[in-house]
Amino acid sequence: MPHYRSLKDIQAHLASGTITVTQLVQGYLHSIDRQRHLNAFLEVFGDEALAKASELDQKRRDGRAGALAGMVLAIKDNICYQGHQVTASSKILKGFTSLYTATALQRLLDQDAIVIGRTNCDEFAMGASTENSAFGPTLNAADPTRVPGGSSGGSAVAVQAHMCLAALGSDTGGSIRQPAAFTGTVGLRPTYGHVSRYGLLAYASSFDQIGTITQCPEDAMLIMATMAGHDPMDATSATHQAPYNQAFDSNKKLKIGLLRECVEHPNLHPEVRGRLLALAAKLGDMGHEVQHVSFPYTDYVVPNYYVLTTAEASSNLSRFAGMIYGYRSPHATDFASTISKSRSEGFGPEVQRRIMLGTFVLSAGYYDAYYARAQKTRRLVKDCTDQMLEQFDFLLLPTAPHPAFALGANPEPIAMYLEDIFCMQASLAGVPAISVPVQPSLSGLPIGAQLIGPAFSEPRLLHFAGQVAQLGKNLS
Ligand code: GLN
Repeated sequence: MPHYRSLKDIQAHLASGTITVTQLVQGYLHSIDRQRHLNAFLEVFGDEALAKASELDQKRRDGRAGALAGMVLAIKDNICYQGHQVTASSKILKGFTSLYTATALQRLLDQDAIVIGRTNCDEFAMGASTENSAFGPTLNAADPTRVPGGSSGGSAVAVQAHMCLAALGSDTGGSIRQPAAFTGTVGLRPTYGHVSRYGLLAYASSFDQIGTITQCPEDAMLIMATMAGHDPMDATSATHQAPYNQAFDSNKKLKIGLLRECVEHPNLHPEVRGRLLALAAKLGDMGHEVQHVSFPYTDYVVPNYYVLTTAEASSNLSRFAGMIYGYRSPHATDFASTISKSRSEGFGPEVQRRIMLGTFVLSAGYYDAYYARAQKTRRLVKDCTDQMLEQFDFLLLPTAPHPAFALGANPEPIAMYLEDIFCMQASLAGVPAISVPVQPSLSGLPIGAQLIGPAFSEPRLLHFAGQVAQLGKNLS
């Protein structure tokens, strides 16, 4: 089977009879089987995917197939799919079965997308390397001694290594964009509230968004057109809809703001800086207006994000107490020890660290000093970002400070937290951002460029990302 790079290609082959959906699914299952060592999938829904494929082949013959026929999808293991296990890569949920399907996923299934399996991630989406999974790390297909980024590392590798066409991930502070950058895929974090969070296991509810990892921006557009939009089951779901069917003028000249503090950041790898500047120059050559712009809060976003997200996580994860869900310690002797032992044995070290930190910043004596202050800082970041997006169509910055690092290279939590320094601005501001692959490093490692757009600008952002992806292929 060829390495398909878009749903359009697959649908053309389906239409011409070159391939059937059944053969397509068989091809992907074969690819998964050959690449088990990468540990991208926690579970493959092989028989079920084949059964769905054969149903869909019949539907196609009857002319009843949905818009996403041929979309073979992997889902991150924190998205509920009724009747299937969902664990957030945590021992605490091992064996837990979803009671319902996430709205975002249901909308894709209704248009005949087929789910081929659930993918590995950092436990409860906390991490930037997929090394925090209770089920072992995922390896980067570009170099298996390196991490794929995280937390949606399994989803990114599944797309990178052609084990599916596209994948769903979740992005709280970079978990879609950073693994996309590390694997040479396209990763979109939507506007906060644009995609329903109903059925997404919560980490930090005021940040979490389900988004896409794809081979190309066009596929992200197709998925978003189906998946986004209001859902009464999510209280923070926005009623605003973005115009996915709109046609865009590719010759329109845009104003792009190149974030100075990011480009000049001392921790930015020279090759990443070089690619970004070369891309900016090419955009300028095409007639776009590229200007440096200052975002003075770059060094504050990481602490800001960790105070707020750990606070929210400490509350969200309190439901895992050995009572209703998942793991209960066999060593428990009474009510209190059921809770403490189940949580101590069920959660991994990073999750425990964050629950402790979040509990601390919310505690009576420290609430004003940390949590309340961080809320104010978030407002500064949001206002500044919104102002920049009134001045510019899009902001351009790196996705990650460097290409993928080696497994085990980042044992210190703070160093790992800094991996997402360039992703957190969009997360704090609630605006959409996308990582687009550009020409890889000299040693062949993928590099991503990030674009940030105004709230609900996804159609425009994805259209422009398509142009950037073409331009970025050859930058030297
Ligand atoms: N690395 C960041 C964290 O650990 C972002 C993770 C995410 O977006 N889920 O919180």
